[in-house]
Amino acid sequence: MRLTEMHQRSLAFLILANVSLFAAIQHGHAQTDTAPFLEIQDGSLPLIFTVPHGGSLKPAGLMNRRYGSLATDAETKTLAAEIDLAIKTRLGASAHFIINNLHRSKLDPNRDITEAAQDDPGAQSAWRDFHAACTATTQKVTKTHGSGLLIDLHGHRHEEPNVEVGMLLNAADLQNSDAEISSNPSLLSKSSIKELVQRTGKPLAELIRGPSSLGSLLEISGQRSLPSAVRPEPTAGASYYSGAYIIATHGSKNGGKVSAIQLECPWEGVRDTASNRKQFAKRLADALAEFLHVHFHWKSE
Ligand SMILES: [Zn+2]
Repeated sequence: MRLTEMHQRSLAFLILANVSLFAAIQHGHAQTDTAPFLEIQDGSLPLIFTVPHGGSLKPAGLMNRRYGSLATDAETKTLAAEIDLAIKTRLGASAHFIINNLHRSKLDPNRDITEAAQDDPGAQSAWRDFHAACTATTQKVTKTHGSGLLIDLHGHRHEEPNVEVGMLLNAADLQNSDAEISSNPSLLSKSSIKELVQRTGKPLAELIRGPSSLGSLLEISGQRSLPSAVRPEPTAGASYYSGAYIIATHGSKNGGKVSAIQLECPWEGVRDTASNRKQFAKRLADALAEFLHVHFHWKSE
């Protein structure tokens, strides 16, 4: 790299770090100088949110990604801010938040580093910052609470306006009966909630779509969700996101005490207006209060 390019790049970093810091202060989130594109909020609950696709920053010093999805998950950052408030109100304590502020055309933290950063050193560094924060936070939650839950927050544009609850079981896996799902060791070992099943002794199908699953608790709070007791599997031929790199890496698929769920939110009725974002945040906080109470023995003070 020529000196002028290096200078331009550091200047871009500096300017964006300051812009981002301002945004971070506005939302009450802390930020470190060494991770300029990351926004972190420390919490007290055994609950972590990651928001990988809501960023808008497109620094000129980072190359554009050339393949993979480049589309942003619109309004997932504003949705996360509402969820933060709703959880504080409903549970009287705060969740951890890890937010990527780079636009997806520059970085996709929900992919391995090759597809995520596509050889750009700045994007690789931002990818490492994001995943180091996930590792540090899951370790902290494990140390404090013994176990925990990571929710990876996204937005989809599928035809059916369901919240899609992903635990790494795909549409074909979900076509099995509850008995088949719960007795198949290969489905347990591929799921991102393995520790939850092993620790609670509850059948995998119960935690995926039984009465105490997150999907069913969301349905009870008024939010269409799948899988759940009323929507056990995706409609034939309909798109469904079962989860990707973040929940595969930071959930309990390969061990560890933190289980992970990818939450894909539809646009209509959930992300599209400020009042719908507020309404969904309240529904999610109600569902999570029950989920943490039942499966993590968490009680409000
Ligand atoms: Zn996404």
